[in-house]
Amino acid sequence: MPDMIPPRPSLGKVRDAATGCRACRLYKNATQTVFGEGPRKAEVMLVGEQPGDAEDLAGHPFVGPAGKLLDRALADAGIDRTIVYVTNVVKHFKFEPRGKRRIHAKPNGAEIAACRPWLETEIALVKPRVLVCLGATAAQALLGRGFKVSQQRGTFVPSSFAPLVTATVHPSSILRAPDDESRHAEMRRFVEDLQKVSALLEATSRAEPRV
Ligand code: SF4
Repeated sequence: MPDMIPPRPSLGKVRDAATGCRACRLYKNATQTVFGEGPRKAEVMLVGEQPGDAEDLAGHPFVGPAGKLLDRALADAGIDRTIVYVTNVVKHFKFEPRGKRRIHAKPNGAEIAACRPWLETEIALVKPRVLVCLGATAAQALLGRGFKVSQQRGTFVPSSFAPLVTATVHPSSILRAPDDESRHAEMRRFVEDLQKVSALLEATSRAEPRV
């Protein structure tokens, strides 16, 4: 797998190389590799678990219902979507067929480990000022298995991945809330977590303008 990362990698070269990845079995049933997207010098990187059904078909990350909710939350938190790079710890959609539907299945440790060089290369190339893990899979992959999103969401933790690293829920968990009241409450908490990112971005860009 490391030999799939091109020498002197750029985001474009790495994205192209990832289209042919066969490092785990997930490529077999998915439509295509869904690589991260966003500006080369994005200030913020959001890392989710894996592409969903809509992303698998479109070939782009966070374009389905969870992505639309994420866009609304970013806007509500005052984070300009054009400074955000979005990606996932696993680049192929893992699912179980149920009739005509494809039901999301959680990637296992071996699949996450196989895909990790792609994510690490994205982080190394983009060098975000803030990295936000969305959901437990991303948080435990990048911050360690002891990280509990339910207890530690919205806190910033030391990490070699970026100057500021935090985690919150995955937007798809908000869509799964059992009723409107809890969905609105979860959305408010999600926006509050992103507002902390927004405030720190503003404070650090004043202190240390990016070149
Ligand atoms: S999920 Fe990741 S490691 Fe597995 S085949 Fe796809 S790109 Fe490669």
